[in-house]
Amino acid sequence: MRYSDAFFPSFQRTPHMKAAHGMVVSMHYTLTDDSGETLDSSRGGEPFNYLHGHSNIIPGLEKALEGAQTGFKSKVTVAPAEGYGEKNPEAVFEAPREHFPPDMKLEVGSRVYADGPNGPITLTVVSLTETGAVLDANHPLAGKTLHFDVEITTVRSATQEELEHGHVHGEGGHQH
Ligand code: ZN
Repeated sequence: MRYSDAFFPSFQRTPHMKAAHGMVVSMHYTLTDDSGETLDSSRGGEPFNYLHGHSNIIPGLEKALEGAQTGFKSKVTVAPAEGYGEKNPEAVFEAPREHFPPDMKLEVGSRVYADGPNGPITLTVVSLTETGAVLDANHPLAGKTLHFDVEITTVRSATQEELEHGHVHGEGGHQH
């Protein structure tokens, strides 16, 4: 085989970057649940950026985007095990009123925070009881099958600093 046959005739202005470990991927996405209700979307705003291969996003989506290039469009369905995990029934429990600040107004759906063994955790108030509130420490998307409609807008190499930090810097990323 001649040398030129290896790449001819696909010349392009810039190298085609693929979503792979150490690449920064920018994309638009819309997330819906099984009923088709939109849970989250980047459309209408700036694209969402993440550092591929660093668990910045849920495993099911990261796998589906592996090797994808700019312009890649896909519908990706992610089961709970590859998303935010199954719901843990033990993470739903009642907490007595005196465990909350006296002036704190507890409402169904509101978020409260606590110091967990691995740092701060967010809990959702599920219901109010006579003596306190039922809290859910599961991620709000735990137990849900997630439907992503994604479109990759750009793929670039991460900077050395981004690789060291394990996340994206600058526009749409960590500002520090
Ligand atoms: Zn950083």
